[in-house]
Amino acid sequence: MEIKPILCRAGTMDNYAYVIRDEKSGISAIIDPSEAAPIIETCHQLNIQPEYILNTHHHFDHTDSNLELKALFHARIVGNASDAHRIPGLDIEVKEGETFNLGETPAQIINADGHTIGHILWYFSQDKALFTGDVLFNLCIGGIFEGTIEQMWTSLQKIKALPDDVMFYPGHEYTLYGARDALRISNNAPEVIKYLEQAQRNIAQGLPAGPFSLKEEKACNPYLSAKNLTELEQRLGY
Ligand code: ZN
Ligand code: FE
Repeated sequence: MEIKPILCRAGTMDNYAYVIRDEKSGISAIIDPSEAAPIIETCHQLNIQPEYILNTHHHFDHTDSNLELKALFHARIVGNASDAHRIPGLDIEVKEGETFNLGETPAQIINADGHTIGHILWYFSQDKALFTGDVLFNLCIGGIFEGTIEQMWTSLQKIKALPDDVMFYPGHEYTLYGARDALRISNNAPEVIKYLEQAQRNIAQGLPAGPFSLKEEKACNPYLSAKNLTELEQRLGY
């Protein structure tokens, strides 16, 4: 599977949308279209006509271009059945434990409540790619808006249980923001410094900080590495 990150709402919310394509079938999708123009430009450059739009959760900065891109590309929108009332233009409902096939590339749907109720992760297990929306960012996690910290803890444990060699793709570029707490909480651990140096090299070239592997994230993200709920609460300043 090819994965192309697209920075949207640059300088304000710094969202990432992704264009992904199953090479075997040529079937492609947009993940979390937050701003139409840069996504349309990328699709034209790559000569891609996406068949699907995949959403992680209902927030406007992940779904705002659903309807515009659905109309433009004649794409079908795929999201959590429980968010059918608030994901614009939803066509195909998926649920935890189900598999969605992007051509010949399967994705597992993983519930990850906390940031919102009904947030899902898109896990392409064969391709070792995980799209984490606003649950997991580089060196930090999403705000807890609808769920509880217990639900966020449970969601983080699901990510932690996935294989180390999975690469993850977050919904925002928040690495440098997350780095401050990661450095403080780890007492400037060498692995966090190394992670940050790699991220800064990429960002300086106008690229996303990552992708990083879950192995690196489990080692360096102070919220993903919290040993229990109490430690997570402490690290989040509860
Ligand atoms: Zn969100
Ligand atoms: Fe967001």
